Amino acid sequence: MDDVRGLNFINGEYRRGSSGKTFDNISPVDGSLVGVVHEAGASDVDAAVRAARAALKGPWGTMALAERLKIVCALVDGIQARFDDFLAAEVADTGKPVSLASHLDIPRGAANFQIFADIVRNHHGESFMMPTPDGTGAVNYTVTRPKGVIATICPWNLPLLLMTWKVGPAMACGNTVVVKPSEETPSTAAMLGEVMNSVGVPPGVYNVVHGFGPGSAGEFLVKHPGVDAITFTGETRTGEAIMQNAAIGVRDVSFELGGKNPAIVFADCDMDKAVEGTMRSVFANCGQVCLGTERVYVERPIFDEFVARMKQGAEALVCGRPEDKSTTMGPLISQEHQDKVLGFYKRAEAEGATVVTGGGVPDLGAELAKGAWVEPTIWTGLPDDSAIITDEIFGPCCHIRPFDNEDEVIRLANDTPYGLACSIWTENLSRAHRVAPQIEAGILWVNSWFLRDLRTPFGGSKQSGIGREGGTYSLEFYTDMSNVCVKL
Ligand code: NAD
Repeated sequence: MDDVRGLNFINGEYRRGSSGKTFDNISPVDGSLVGVVHEAGASDVDAAVRAARAALKGPWGTMALAERLKIVCALVDGIQARFDDFLAAEVADTGKPVSLASHLDIPRGAANFQIFADIVRNHHGESFMMPTPDGTGAVNYTVTRPKGVIATICPWNLPLLLMTWKVGPAMACGNTVVVKPSEETPSTAAMLGEVMNSVGVPPGVYNVVHGFGPGSAGEFLVKHPGVDAITFTGETRTGEAIMQNAAIGVRDVSFELGGKNPAIVFADCDMDKAVEGTMRSVFANCGQVCLGTERVYVERPIFDEFVARMKQGAEALVCGRPEDKSTTMGPLISQEHQDKVLGFYKRAEAEGATVVTGGGVPDLGAELAKGAWVEPTIWTGLPDDSAIITDEIFGPCCHIRPFDNEDEVIRLANDTPYGLACSIWTENLSRAHRVAPQIEAGILWVNSWFLRDLRTPFGGSKQSGIGREGGTYSLEFYTDMSNVCVKL
């Protein structure tokens, strides 16, 4: 029997791919083989979409809301019951520290099902009474239906968490899904199929197809005419390619894309909190968080102290095997990504950056030499138009630049085609309220980072996304609304 982590999951059953092709899932920790993944062919994607369409008309489509939400909530217990399996799979695919995945990826990945079941359970429509010329009046009310088959294209940085962030609301709203996990992290999406079967999700509601983007499962899926809407998290460039395909048949999209997020540190901040928060926002998950900070602007009077404290923090991070309790930073996702990040490290030096710390590959001994490791890195001294300041690197690194006044830093923060997130550090409440609304980003934090109430809108402005997910905002994407107007 093949390991289910490398199999496609279609209509409630695991199967190899009709393409006959496989690809290796490589550990970013040491370059060892995690498993073999069966790539879906066009006919597998077609079978998955057809199964998802059929399931809309089957028991899932006719099930009472209470029954459907009970099943969606049972997924939480189903994942929790296999917590260690999911944790091991996520850690094997990503190399991230167990300490991180055990409190973030798996528990929050499971909780998304409960959260969106609760939101759907409590959601209500609108009604309006209106006068009519004949004096009898009319009543209007809204009704919602599931949107249909949702193509769900996922990235590798928080595989289970970002996938259930889409699949949770999609299923709670009564849709069916075909998931294309990242080729780097296929395992937990595939394993979730077993949990779906065990809690009684009807066949065809949840499907998984493995493969790549162009010329593979990703493209086959977004081009498939049986798909009603596409939700995607990943790079902005990929979003552009997907949007072109979504235009065929005018399908709706929800996009969570790239970023180049600033942090703004005013001289009146609480220094300890600002350093601690910025350390996390730069280095958590080895810098592979869409909300992470890569540009830090610090008011000049505290610039030197702030840089020194960040250097001290970065040099105290411990790279190592995910299961070691002392490990605080894992590797990047792959050697390909390592090459990309090291390319930026070289470029920073070539452009004359002051390398405050890092800039290379850590020496972790022969055992980890084939892993995708890079040093946590901090630069200063680059011009504002450097690629280090303008391009998303998605690694454990940041550039720190001094500023002199509010207007200047607002201009610098907004000087980017992206608009995902920003953290502002100040103890001056008036300043915080004055500055935050002027930042062109979807998610603004004051004196915090990654503090998320899942009922709030999540998403990016400018080239960082289209639409908002979270809370009732997710329901806007995953349902279709009709107004019923009744003349009395
Ligand atoms: P990616 O765009 O390379 O890949 C994402 C997914 O898209 C993968 O499953 C891939 O196979 C698929 N894909 C690629 N080309 C495709 C195509 N032409 N058609 C259909 N599918 C295609 O992104 P990644 O490298 O996996 O993830 C990192 C990126 O994701 C970063 O840019 C990061 O900022 C972004 N991200 C954004 C958020 C957010 O909420 N805004 C969250 C996490 C990650």
